Amino acid sequence: MDKEDLSFKVRQDTGVNVRECYQCGKCTAGCPVGERMDLRPSVIMRMLQSGDTASEEEILLSNSIWLCLTCETCYSRCPMELDIPKVFDYLREKSYAEGKVNSQSSDIVTFHKSFLNAVERNGRLHEMTLILDYKIHSGNLFQDITLAPEMYSKGKLHLLPEHIKDKKGFARLFKDQFKKRKS
Ligand code: SF4
Ligand code: SF4
Repeated sequence: MDKEDLSFKVRQDTGVNVRECYQCGKCTAGCPVGERMDLRPSVIMRMLQSGDTASEEEILLSNSIWLCLTCETCYSRCPMELDIPKVFDYLREKSYAEGKVNSQSSDIVTFHKSFLNAVERNGRLHEMTLILDYKIHSGNLFQDITLAPEMYSKGKLHLLPEHIKDKKGFARLFKDQFKKRKS
C-alpha cells in the first residue's frame, strides 16, 4: 500500500483496511440507498483497493458518499466487519475540503451546515432553527412546508430553543472540533 494512496490515508484516519474486503457484495445488497448511488459501497471499496488515482478522484466526486445515511447496515452485514460509514465520513470530509462535492449533493451539504449552525447557536439541536437556516441557504423555501402544522401538533417542532448550561464550554468545544470543518 503506497503512502500516497487514498486507501492508505483512509486506514490512517479510520483504522479500516479496505484491502480486507473480498467483494462479497453484502454491503451493497443491504444498502437502503444503493439504487440511487452512482457508485455502490462494494464498488467504492474495490476502487479504493486499486490505488488508481482516477478512481480515487471519481470517488471524491461521487454522489454516493453524500447519499449515505450512516445507517450502518453495511457495517453490520460485512463478514470482515469493515466500517464503511466511517470510511464514507472520511471521504466526505476530504471531498468537501478539496472542493470536489458532487453538484447534485449541494442541498445535502447545505443541510449538514445548517445542522451545525443550529447546534452551535443553541448548544443543542433546535428543529425550527435548523429548518429556517436550511431554507434560507438552500432556497427550497416551500419544500415540505405542509408537514409543519402536523409536526407542530405532535410536539415535534418547538418554537423556542432550549439552552444548555455551559454555553462557553460548548462554544470552545465546537470551535476546536467543528468550526474548521464548516468553513
Ligand atoms: S451506512 Fe451508508 S453505505 Fe452503509 S448501508 Fe447505510 S446508507 Fe448504505
Ligand atoms: S460486505 Fe464487507 S467484504 Fe463484502 S463487499 Fe462489502 S465491504 Fe467487502
